[in-house]
Amino acid sequence: MKQIMIHYGELSTKGRNRKMFQNKMAEHIRYKTRDIEKLKILPHHDFMHLFWEETPYEVIIEILQSVPGIQRFEPVYPVEKHLEAIQAKALELFQSIELASGDSFKVVAKRSDKSFEYETIEIQREVGGYLSDAYPDLIVDLKHPTHKLVVSIQQESAFLSLQSYPGMAGLPYGSSGKGLLMLSGGFDSPIAGYEVIKRGMALEMVHFASPPYTSPQALEKAKRLTAVLAKYGTSMTFHEVPFAEIQLAIRDHVPDNLSMTVMRRIMLRIMEMLLKERKAMAIVNGESLGQVASQTLQSMSVINEVTHSLILRPLITVDKNDIIDLAEKIGTYSISNEPFEDCCTVFAPKSPWTKPRLHTVKEYEAQMPIDELVKDAVANIKSSQIDANYQSEARAAFADLL
Ligand code: ATP
Ligand code: MG
Repeated sequence: MKQIMIHYGELSTKGRNRKMFQNKMAEHIRYKTRDIEKLKILPHHDFMHLFWEETPYEVIIEILQSVPGIQRFEPVYPVEKHLEAIQAKALELFQSIELASGDSFKVVAKRSDKSFEYETIEIQREVGGYLSDAYPDLIVDLKHPTHKLVVSIQQESAFLSLQSYPGMAGLPYGSSGKGLLMLSGGFDSPIAGYEVIKRGMALEMVHFASPPYTSPQALEKAKRLTAVLAKYGTSMTFHEVPFAEIQLAIRDHVPDNLSMTVMRRIMLRIMEMLLKERKAMAIVNGESLGQVASQTLQSMSVINEVTHSLILRPLITVDKNDIIDLAEKIGTYSISNEPFEDCCTVFAPKSPWTKPRLHTVKEYEAQMPIDELVKDAVANIKSSQIDANYQSEARAAFADLL
């Protein structure tokens, strides 16, 4: 039987709610392994224990690396509580890894079964000495070892672990409640989504599309970005908001340099309605202070004026370069980098005001049937489910032909 021990991140600081956090994490792991194998998951106070039979370690390791809430995890190997058995398993584990010249090691023993015949220091010495005999070139380094072998003596058996993997950290998926992500096809919004997923938020996606002015490829791009985010969460609801009529109305009623402000205010009105409908708690977007004209303090406060809903802007202080680095790391870069333009770019004004005035904006809005336009857009939203294995419709159709 294969085993992994998961060490919690921040959730280990939780008090009475700890069970809820643990259950969310277990539920998420169960979801991500649903088509692979039924794992046995045992949540303990300080760690979570996974057991399974068949699936190779690499598969489970890759899955756990995209489960929020995990600080680190280790494959652990049970062995009889006899020194010789522990030494033999320790040697086997070292034989299974590649050792380079100059590598060092250290043995750390922990003893929760106090009746075990050896003290921790003795276990360390006996196992360490045995390994040194087998690998005379392997240096002992107690401060910064290349390899750390942990021997844990527990009631039922001894457990050994040699390799430790970092997790995503943060909080379990969904433990912070649900939000709606304003997802464009750009670089910022998927990263904003990743950041709040990591803090335990479950997300639904909202994408404003303006066909025929925007292309089917632009829509596909947003869907494929959703699929990448779904890897860190579960299957996600994707809402496509028809936005062309609103953009045409803005073009007809609002001067060019204020159109961006009005457009964003209308987006937020729609978001607010959806928030209630979907029983979500917060709007999330990819705004970053000063990045573009609509993201100056003046612009953001005029845009924000239409709603009392909670708006989270995880990237507000993050530089574009750092956003790009993260996009490469989590796998959204190559998709965001595709050239298809979304609704904001197609209708982008030549020189948007960086300091729009609220009363002027309101005067122009008063000439538009905003409530009807908003209601109409919300009534015509198309929603679908997208999971991490999402295949674009074109590709799926093509595959069917083969
Ligand atoms: P991104 O900011 O994701 O790179 P962008 O640069 O095209 O995309 P901005 O003009 O910076 O978009 O818009 C700021 C934020 O507004 C985006 O991060 C996103 O949250 C939201 N937004 C913009 N366009 C859309 C859209 N078509 N659908 C949904 N949300 C959008
Ligand atoms: Mg942006």
